[in-house]
Amino acid sequence: MRQMLVMANWKLNGSSAENETLLRSLSDRLGDGIGSRNVQSVICPPFPYLGQVNTLLEGTGLELGAQDCSHSVSGAYTGEISTEMLADCGCRWVIVGHSERRQYHQESDALIAAKAVAALRAGLTPVVCVGETQEQREAGEAEAVVERQLRGALADLPDLAAVVVAYEPVWAIGTGLTATPELAQEMHSMLRSVLSAMDESAAQNMRILYGGSVKADNAASLFAEADIDGALVGGASLDAEAFAAIIEAAAY
Ligand code: PEP
Repeated sequence: MRQMLVMANWKLNGSSAENETLLRSLSDRLGDGIGSRNVQSVICPPFPYLGQVNTLLEGTGLELGAQDCSHSVSGAYTGEISTEMLADCGCRWVIVGHSERRQYHQESDALIAAKAVAALRAGLTPVVCVGETQEQREAGEAEAVVERQLRGALADLPDLAAVVVAYEPVWAIGTGLTATPELAQEMHSMLRSVLSAMDESAAQNMRILYGGSVKADNAASLFAEADIDGALVGGASLDAEAFAAIIEAAAY
């Protein structure tokens, strides 16, 4: 049985004071036992707050992740942050290929593949994001697009079992439009078939998260689907009550 996974992507939000208030409220709501239930929960704050959040997460059962990484280990790459640095700061997870990175930073599948390799090199779990735009869906290209993104991002990986995939339709991110559980399940099942063709036994154990306007009131119906193994949550992860409810919905 795959363990559920719920990840908070804070994006470009937060301050030292806000982070502390949010995480104290979240851990009060979840209580001590959350780490021992059938769900893993991860917080991905902006880079400058990794140290602060790592300290605040101590003893909560929640884990630390990053929103992006460099594919390089070190050198003349101004502004970049290596996966080794992230691991050194307490991260165990890193999101790669988020649609906002693809859209605003022109990240290619090849670069995302190199970032995923860099994550494994440093002992981090890469969370590889794929998803189609509204135009691609309307053109009937959704499946082909996400399959191409998935194969491109996983091309160089030595160990598929060590990877998490996140299906995030771009039209659902931050828009309030959530994929129906049926549509999300259809896409997740297709992704698992593609993964199975690459490595059948790894595919059965790999988590495939759904992302795109997951809220407290739609999480349980998404999580009830066979191939939805958790969520990558943007907006609702900034609200302690909503994010705690999403984690609770996964911890059934
Ligand atoms: C995301 O940023 O990955 C995301 C899914 O955002 P939201 O939950 O706000 O749609």
